Amino acid sequence: MASEKKNEKKEELGITVSKDENFSEWFSQVVFKSDLADIRYGLQGFIVHREWGTLILRKIYEMLEREVEKDNHLPVLFPIAIPKHFFEKEKEHVEGFAPEVFWVTEAGDDKLAEPFALRPTSETAFYSMYSLWIRSWKDLPFKRYQSRICVYRYESTTRPFLRGREFLFFETHDAFRTHEEALKQVRKDMEILKNVVEEKLFIPFIFFRRPQWDKFAGADDTYAADTVMPDGKISQIGSTHDLGQRFSRAFEVKFKDKDEKEKYVYLTCFGPGIWRIMAALIALHGDDKGLVLPSSVAPYHAVIVPIYFKGKEGVVDEAATKLKEKLEAARYRVIFDDDKDKTAGFKFYKWELYGVPVRIEIGPRDVENGTAVLVRRADGGKVVVEVEKVGDELKKQLEENDKIIKKGSMRYHKIHEAKTLEEVKKLADKGGFIKAPFCGVDEKAESCADKLQEMTALKVRGVPLDSKENPGKDDRCIICGKKAKVLVYLAKAY
Ligand SMILES: [Zn+2]
Repeated sequence: MASEKKNEKKEELGITVSKDENFSEWFSQVVFKSDLADIRYGLQGFIVHREWGTLILRKIYEMLEREVEKDNHLPVLFPIAIPKHFFEKEKEHVEGFAPEVFWVTEAGDDKLAEPFALRPTSETAFYSMYSLWIRSWKDLPFKRYQSRICVYRYESTTRPFLRGREFLFFETHDAFRTHEEALKQVRKDMEILKNVVEEKLFIPFIFFRRPQWDKFAGADDTYAADTVMPDGKISQIGSTHDLGQRFSRAFEVKFKDKDEKEKYVYLTCFGPGIWRIMAALIALHGDDKGLVLPSSVAPYHAVIVPIYFKGKEGVVDEAATKLKEKLEAARYRVIFDDDKDKTAGFKFYKWELYGVPVRIEIGPRDVENGTAVLVRRADGGKVVVEVEKVGDELKKQLEENDKIIKKGSMRYHKIHEAKTLEEVKKLADKGGFIKAPFCGVDEKAESCADKLQEMTALKVRGVPLDSKENPGKDDRCIICGKKAKVLVYLAKAY
């Protein structure tokens, strides 16, 4: 009976499909069962972020905020409402976003004199105010950001953390005196993304300059970070845009330069994809037991699970409470799961599902011996240590857990090479990137990209920033056969 009961609990709590066999279903189950999000709100594309997901997302936000503030950005919060006439100022921007905008046209019984949009992004909102705030070259560079907000886009297919009609956002908007400074910021944005996403979350990515036909609406150039998901498809996890002077001309963002002349600023904007980063975090590191979290984002570094025996609960609780206090004094985030109605086995499943990096087990025998058992989430590795040394050991085990996660994260990050369309077709379903010779990344090459996508569903993601890789002198564009100008990366994408 006892074991039957245990299995029942595992069934309701645990993940029932294998990540390698059915990634899509696995992802949905982890999102729901690990209390990240609930899609049953009843409005398509609008989800409820649940407790565990919100705690993790807060950590991601904190890390990004710290990084951009180090880079001299100051925080602001803009209205969600963008008046229609702001939108119409930059032609390409409005055309690009028009099909995705939610408009508010009525209030109460009245038709609004001017409709407003629920922001799909905030360029027009920011720059309308920058034209009032920026006056002189001494005001530049002018760097601001807003964080922990949502944007709204009318998407047809939606999926938690991958595509929503409402989704979490983070954006910086920077104004510069010269284009050189603006381009330096693009690199700085890439570093910020690396410092958080690669260094702390162990999500590998390639930073591309996008082809001219795949730019942000209203940008001179778009740069974006792509990561490979476990199903082999690519997900864009952040982008930064060189807006040149298009928006500053449209919004009259001018400054008086050193030579007393009025000039337009150069603008850049940067948006790490909060949801996409979350999706990659879940997808790349998780396993068949659920989430696996790096120590940087784990709401708790460790969970203490007491092993109760009848009559001995008191001593175990006392030892566990003391240990928790000691670890917290050493600045670890620790939870003591002392729920008397749940078995230790149930708690093991639960905290594994939540991806807490280290489990600390304490039973009556441990109390007698002055020991505790530490179990790593990433690989189940176990050590028994003296209670006095749990603090030092926890540090070691967190590092080891992170190391294992980091190593595993490269599993999906494949880059194949091809020279001909035939070779590309053979590799098209292997997942990851395919590096191939192409006739260009300017507008003239767009028709080749369209043909490729029609035939293979592969998209041209671009050329990595600072790439030193050039096509060989005999290399030909895989589509038109003209002499190849670039080596592009191709992939199927979300
Ligand atoms: Zn071509």
